[in-house]
Amino acid sequence: MSIFTKIIEGEIPCYKVAEDDNYIAFLDINPNAKGHTLVVPKKEENKLFDLSKEDYLSLMDFSYRVAKALEKAVSCKRVCTSVIGLEVPHVHVHLVPTNAMEDIQFTKKVKLTNDEFVALAASISSEFE
Ligand code: AMP
Repeated sequence: MSIFTKIIEGEIPCYKVAEDDNYIAFLDINPNAKGHTLVVPKKEENKLFDLSKEDYLSLMDFSYRVAKALEKAVSCKRVCTSVIGLEVPHVHVHLVPTNAMEDIQFTKKVKLTNDEFVALAASISSEFE
């Protein structure tokens, strides 16, 4: 069972941004930038392109809605996205509020307090449609 499945099943906590029957979005615990969010299908699958085309498009649709909320809640030049999965082999879309190339390089990390995570998640969540 992946760490994200444990989050989905409520075994470990997360800073939740959005959820429906098939997807959950929560803040990355070791963010590249303030507002770095992960969008995760509840059905555990390892690689993005192992998904059916229908499930892939559905994940992108949910990610689009989260990105729109992120754009409203967090000031940045643009929301960038990538899919990696080398650390957690459970499909997830990274949505990163980006101002400079280093924000999307997964080398520079920002430290946030619990209160900052809570406030960020609430503010992104309030913009989610
Ligand atoms: P990757 O699998 O390389 O796409 O990276 C996995 C991402 O998941 C990293 O950015 C981690 O910081 C993030 N991550 C790992 N565990 C958690 C967790 N419990 N809650 C939130 N984010 C996590």
